[in-house]
Amino acid sequence: MTRVAIVGGGPAGLSTALFAAKNGLEAVVFDTDGTWMHKAHLFNYPGVGSVDGSAFVQTARQQAEDFGAELHRDAEVTAVESTDHGFAVTAGEDTHEADYLVLATGANRDLAESLGCDRREDDTVDVDVTMETSVENAYATGAMVRAEEWQAVISAGDGAAAALNILTKEKGDHYHDFDTPDTAAAVFDDLRDDEA
Ligand SMILES: Cc1cc2nc3c(=O)[nH]c(=O)nc-3n(C[C@H](O)[C@H](O)[C@H](O)COP(=O)(O)OP(=O)(O)OC[C@H]3O[C@@H](n4cnc5c(N)ncnc54)[C@H](O)[C@@H]3O)c2cc1C
Repeated sequence: MTRVAIVGGGPAGLSTALFAAKNGLEAVVFDTDGTWMHKAHLFNYPGVGSVDGSAFVQTARQQAEDFGAELHRDAEVTAVESTDHGFAVTAGEDTHEADYLVLATGANRDLAESLGCDRREDDTVDVDVTMETSVENAYATGAMVRAEEWQAVISAGDGAAAALNILTKEKGDHYHDFDTPDTAAAVFDDLRDDEA
């Protein structure tokens, strides 16, 4: 199965994990739980009236796990490298192979720099609207790609864009993750089956 390694478990990384896992990719998140969301209270996330930042993260983690994402909490990634087959991600003593890499480390751009991703003049990581960096199949999302506009909803959107672009590469065409009231029951059933 196509494996997506995601470094960072804030809104950007968890959004990538949710979209990737929900649509049949193997999504693995490495996180050190330093998300700014623990300091925030959201009134500006459309569709969500008011929510404590840590509660938001808790729900987003649960959502991603319910769809099959694997979350490694307290797992600092110390190195990411391109390999002949994709990427090698080092966390603790272990090295994990992945076909795609999504960086979602907030404003910290160190891993993007070590991987050789191009930067813009203002030091942000250079990406297009798909969030792909200058390194093929490596994506950068969230605060690291913007000097300003640091908002949870923007990071979550970046993460979703990265996942959908990976899905488009893997499945062809322009991939859409659309549900409707008619298909919702089937999604609920799948989630219930997975829990059983
Ligand atoms: C005081 C404060 C109040 C805020 N209020 C609001 C608000 O009201 N509304 C709003 O929309 N936004 C608010 N924000 C901003 C919001 O929190 C950020 O925009 C959002 O958290 C960015 O999401 P992200 O996923 O890009 O990065 P982050 O949430 O920062 O997540 C990055 C994650 O990557 C992990 N990580 C970093 N390096 C590594 C590594 N090497 N290995 C493994 N994991 C790593 C970190 O531990 C962290 O969990 C606020 C921020 C602050 C500081």
